[in-house]
Amino acid sequence: MREMTLGKSGLRVSAVGFGGIPIQRISENEAATVIRTAIDLGVTFFDTAAGYTDSESKIGKAIAGRRDGLVLATKSGSGTREGAQAEIERSLRQMKTDVIDLFQFHGISDMAKWEQITGPGGAMEAVLEAQRKGDVAHVGFTSHSLDTALELVEEEIFETVQFPFNLVTSEPADELIPKARERALGFIAMKPLCGGQYDDAVLAFKFLNGFSDVVPIPGIEKVEEIEQIVAVVASGAVLEGAEKERAEKIAADLGKLFCRRCDYCEPCPHGVPIQTAMNLHGLCKRLPPASIAGWVAGKLSEEGTKCTECGECEEKCPYDLPIIETVKASVEKAKAIMADWEARS
Ligand code: SF4
Ligand code: SF4
Repeated sequence: MREMTLGKSGLRVSAVGFGGIPIQRISENEAATVIRTAIDLGVTFFDTAAGYTDSESKIGKAIAGRRDGLVLATKSGSGTREGAQAEIERSLRQMKTDVIDLFQFHGISDMAKWEQITGPGGAMEAVLEAQRKGDVAHVGFTSHSLDTALELVEEEIFETVQFPFNLVTSEPADELIPKARERALGFIAMKPLCGGQYDDAVLAFKFLNGFSDVVPIPGIEKVEEIEQIVAVVASGAVLEGAEKERAEKIAADLGKLFCRRCDYCEPCPHGVPIQTAMNLHGLCKRLPPASIAGWVAGKLSEEGTKCTECGECEEKCPYDLPIIETVKASVEKAKAIMADWEARS
């Protein structure tokens, strides 16, 4: 397996990491099998979050006795000192580790959130304290907002940035990746398979192989997924000829539909959970059915019906996505999911 250095953190990681969202959907034993297979294949970088229900504890159990040489990254979305401190302590316990190699502020969507984090009583106080104590080694952030990420990469504290990057949402290649490189931040690509919008791992990872200092973290649920991905990444092959043309066509077609989760369209004046509606397909692929029924489809099937088709959101979306049409289709899908869930429970 190829390796790379995550910017000024100096952390050495495999050229592909392991994203910890989908293991929420499988049993502890199944998760252990897929995680240990990844380690056997040379994957050394594991990324999870305090907010991914039992993902941290599944990783902690699976790596028992094999912690050496692995880089564990997790996140907290809390803006407060108390909240972040509690989540860091919980992450250490869940992952059965003495140190979080990379702590990331989870989903900083705007500068108001950053001001909360760095203000009095904010989460930064807890993170700096954890660094002093040796509980956290390195610090990064994750975001879906390009404008916010471009500002945050200027902050001295950060050693890594995690942002969606794949052959459909390739905008970070223009400014964010070069800026991260210039500032010596490691770049971690979330959603390398476009958040579950397409399944062609060969095209997806040949595209990413073209960026030798970017480490993708695909969400993994099955042994065969990690085997296929590792084979493509280890080969170092990049897109060429007919494959390149096919990838460009996919990018052009899906780019007109793919939500970047940047939140520029929010909030809806009528309370429609726009981003959930735009991402229902991918969420259904990655989250456990109970979570989908509990807070995704349940909420959407009720609040999504409040759309008046005013068009305010479409005016604000920088990618000109057909939000109204997608909300309508997702509400119907959410209602069907709920009917099916209720029939089964
Ligand atoms: S079109 Fe619908 S979802 Fe968009 S802002 Fe108006 S009410 Fe909200
Ligand atoms: S619909 Fe458009 S503006 Fe809204 S989160 Fe998605 S990409 Fe961003």
